[in-house]
Amino acid sequence: DPLITAKNLSKYYQMGEVRVEALKAATFQLYQGELVVILGPSGSGKSTLLNIIGGMDQASEGELFYQDVPLHTADSKKLTLFRRNDVGFVFQFYNLMPNLTAHENVSLAAQIVTKPLPVDETLGKVGLLDRQNHFPAQLSGGQQQRVALARALVKNPKMLLCDEPTGALDSQTSIQVLGLLKEFSRTYDKTVAIITHNTAISAIADRIFHLKDGRLADVEVNNNPVPPE
Ligand code: ADP
Ligand code: ADP
Repeated sequence: DPLITAKNLSKYYQMGEVRVEALKAATFQLYQGELVVILGPSGSGKSTLLNIIGGMDQASEGELFYQDVPLHTADSKKLTLFRRNDVGFVFQFYNLMPNLTAHENVSLAAQIVTKPLPVDETLGKVGLLDRQNHFPAQLSGGQQQRVALARALVKNPKMLLCDEPTGALDSQTSIQVLGLLKEFSRTYDKTVAIITHNTAISAIADRIFHLKDGRLADVEVNNNPVPPE
């Protein structure tokens, strides 16, 4: 069974007289354990789509289910619980709390969810146990993003949503972060969705969603996904 089922999802923004169609009737499913890369130029609707899947926003039209749970009719309280317990988020600029250590950043996320993983174990999975008492400013960009990965993973969600997770990293560090995301999907059976406009990243994907002008133009199956290089 799919983890996410989307039927004809559309999102409109009214800007005075002008109606912007950010997402146009997107229909797709996301399966447990698959890694999907969402490709498209700036303004094609990638963030809009990810925000709706993650319960940070709701579609104007269409249906969205998490397993059997309808999200398109969920109230804000239900959506908040869904975001908190069932989705791990990773952002381009990490979004760590600057006044908390790596360990404290991950603990904070663990404290507010219903089924967290042990914090130390999670920091170990991203290779950061030796840096756990450092503050974000004392860590490299790649290390900060690994703290953010641990913060997402510690919630033990079935799904990780990543918005340009390597957009601020050099190529060597990007490979490390993508390798961890690949491992999360392969080894821990997480559904991972990655927004990017870097077409090279699609090599690691099981499927590639191509967005054009708000439309899901093509879903490409990658029969031979490779580790990041
Ligand atoms: P991408 O992530 O691919 O760059 P977005 O999903 O951010 O694309 O945006 C898709 C379209 O929706 C763009 O035309 C953008 O200007 C518009 N849009 C996004 N958010 C808003 C908003 N809050 N209000 C009005 N228009 C928006
Ligand atoms: P709450 O803080 O009430 O749990 P939020 O919508 O603020 O609800 O966030 C829910 C979850 O979504 C958080 O636990 C966090 O993992 C993630 N999240 C949302 N927005 C951000 C952000 N800007 N930076 C980091 N995590 C975020």
